[in-house]
Formats: sequence, structure tokens, C-alpha cells
Amino acid sequence: MTKDAFISTPMKKINIAIDGWSSCGKSTLARQLAKALNYIFIDSGAMYRAIALYFIQNQIALNDAVAVDNALGNISLSFQKDPQSGSNEIWMNGHNVERLIREMDVAAKVSDVAALKAVREFAVAQQQMIGRQKGIVMDGRDIGTTVFPTAELKIFMTARPAVRVERRFRELRAKHPEITMEEVKANLESRDLMDSTREVSPLRKAEDAIVLDNSELSPEQQFALALAWANEKINS
Ligand code: C5P
Repeated sequence: MTKDAFISTPMKKINIAIDGWSSCGKSTLARQLAKALNYIFIDSGAMYRAIALYFIQNQIALNDAVAVDNALGNISLSFQKDPQSGSNEIWMNGHNVERLIREMDVAAKVSDVAALKAVREFAVAQQQMIGRQKGIVMDGRDIGTTVFPTAELKIFMTARPAVRVERRFRELRAKHPEITMEEVKANLESRDLMDSTREVSPLRKAEDAIVLDNSELSPEQQFALALAWANEKINS
């Protein structure tokens, strides 16, 4: 055996962009891929939710550009690994807000906040900075089109609306027994409409994204598919 046989080249690191409609299981898949590949998972929606939470807490009027700019100047976001779950959780100005940002008041406001150009510039700049190190799995609405247009693997997730409503309803009802299916459906529909029709970086499939419709797939099946796509790109 030659000496060269012992020299192993480090595995190529890629960025993976996962976009799609609300409640398609994007974060679940992104988290699974990051774990399997030893990559970093970034939930870009959590950043928009945290900004929306700040705007709610501080009563920032969305039509007041100066107030919005000042507010953004006061927001510091970071992701920190939770020692117990091992997953990345979002912190805002020194507080872990991972749970607060999942409440319905934030869900009701976030798409209006995320449609503001100043907010998107603020969030996208930070997301692109994170992406420079490679080995990132980021999920959102504009990751393959705007944040990482050159990502090696882009996945666009979709599922039948009824399937998505049912999944989100079950998830929310565990914490909020009073919530109704109609409320969940209305929130998903209005977010999808706002996200896909806004002027700046609307939700759309990147031309080179692979569509993953998981209406009939188990989490295990969809994970196996996506991991195979990722390995193909890593080894190419
Ligand atoms: O992914 P999640 O449903 O938590 O995102 C919450 C909201 O944040 C979305 O409905 C959308 O309005 C906004 N968002 C966005 N761009 C992203 C991620 C999320 O506009 N990249």
C-alpha cells in the first residue's frame, strides 16, 4: 500500500436549502439532515418569528419605517444549542424565546412583519453570514431563491393543505386544547397567501429545487429520500 492511501481528503461540505409552504415539516426534515450529516440546522422562520415577537412586545407600528429601523437596531438574535435536547434554539437579546415565538399571537403577525423590506434585509444578511462556513441546513421560504441561490441542494416541500392543517392542529392542540381546526386552517391559509404574494422575496420554488411532496410519505421515508439527495451532492 502506498503512503498516499492513508491520506484522506476531508468530506466536502455543502449548504442545503429547504423551502416550502407552512407546516410541511420543513424544520423536522432540516433537523434530521443536520443531525445525520453533522451540519448546523438554522430555522430562518424562527428569526422572523422572534422579530415579530419583539414588535408585539414593543408595540412597533409596521407602517412607521423609522420605528421599524430603530427596533431592528435593538434586536440581537443568536442560535444556541440546548444542552438537553441538543437542538439549536433561538435567543433574542439574552433570552431564550424558542417557546414564545410558537404562540398564535406571533403566528398571526409574523407574515406581515416578514413582508417588510427592512426586516428581510436584516434577517437575510445574518443568514448569509452563517452560510459562509458551509455545512448549513436552513429552512424557510426564500432560502433557495434569495439567501443561498447557489446552495448545492435545494428542496421545495409541499403537502396537501388538509394534511398540513391536520398536522399543525395536532401539534398545537397538545399545548392549547381550546384551539380549533378552523383557526389553524385560517392562519395557514393567510400566511401562505401573504408569503407567496409579497413583493420582496416571495415564497416560490427555485428553478433548480427538487420538489418533495410528503402528503403520503412517512417522516422516515422522506428523510431517506432527502439524505440520499444530500449524499449524492456531497460525493459529486
Ligand atoms: O417557518 P415558519 O412557519 O416558522 O415561518 C414563520 C413565518 O416567517 C412564515 O409564515 C413567513 O411569513 C416568514 N418566513 C419568511 N421567510 C423565511 C422563513 C419564514 O418570510 N425564510
